[in-house]
Amino acid sequence: MGRRNMSSVSSQDEKAGQAVKRRYLPRELRIKAHDMVIRLRLQGMSYNKIIYEVYIALGVRLSKSHISYYVRGLHNPRNGIYISSLECLMPSEDLAFVIGAVIGDGTTKRTKSGDFVMMFRVKDKEFAEEFSKRIANVLGRQALKPRVLKDGRWAIEIKSKILYELLKKPIDIERIRPFVEHCEKCVGAFIRGFFDAEGIVRKDGTMTVVNTDFNLLLYVRDLLRKINVETTSEPKLHTPAGTSVRGRNGKVYKTRKDLYYLQIRKSSNENFYDMVGFTIDRKRKRLEEYLRRRKSRPASTTPIFSLFTPHLFFENNSILKIYLKSSKAL
Ligand SMILES: [Zn+2]
Repeated sequence: MGRRNMSSVSSQDEKAGQAVKRRYLPRELRIKAHDMVIRLRLQGMSYNKIIYEVYIALGVRLSKSHISYYVRGLHNPRNGIYISSLECLMPSEDLAFVIGAVIGDGTTKRTKSGDFVMMFRVKDKEFAEEFSKRIANVLGRQALKPRVLKDGRWAIEIKSKILYELLKKPIDIERIRPFVEHCEKCVGAFIRGFFDAEGIVRKDGTMTVVNTDFNLLLYVRDLLRKINVETTSEPKLHTPAGTSVRGRNGKVYKTRKDLYYLQIRKSSNENFYDMVGFTIDRKRKRLEEYLRRRKSRPASTTPIFSLFTPHLFFENNSILKIYLKSSKAL
């Protein structure tokens, strides 16, 4: 029988009756099998039925434990076994969005029991749901339902060593750069995640983004320029450290760090809408209302220039080059 197990000998070897040498299936095929398992399981299909369907479609015979590993997110061929190392993480819009969102609204910690935990807490449910969906795609796990906190915010908690390494603060820009700058779409997705978290849209259409990390805002400014969105020249001081502010619980406390802001030029609002946009309804609506008032917005949502020209802007980025080289070898 010429069936293929996930780590099987090829049928040729079997025919020749040679010494059995275990060979793994091509990564691409394992990724197909993985994605199919997740999709069918979400449809409520039983393990036996999934094994059958994958066998019919791909000629690959999975075991129940494979299915279980996939479904529980313990194993993902896309990110390497156990997704334990940064080199195995593949660039994608989902990952870029997650990076932007976590930099804004996420925190990381190591628990006493040694777990690597990433916490994400936000005001808007749709943002939490989008985040959950995208991070599930990145890690090859099932999306978690956001949990509502006492203060009304929505929370997602993810255990992942690799994301902890990538996103622990202070953010290492060189570490996230290959994923953020992979292509224009990834840049747009990163900015979107960051602005969903840290962006403010005023009624008059003024858009700003705030953060305590001055260098991070400089980086964001440069990324915005790459997608034709102009900002004020440098981040400016918004609130100096030591300012008394009222927290969510009503208590007054003093800020520990300087808070900076970066402002988008209004002439670039439309480009921002086309190239980036918002997940959060209230922010997106404000921007749309502004653009409608200006009557400058045509009905079409065609981008100003093509999104499908990856790697043009970033050819000089040696890290990216190295990264692409190594990812070819995977
Ligand atoms: Zn990309």
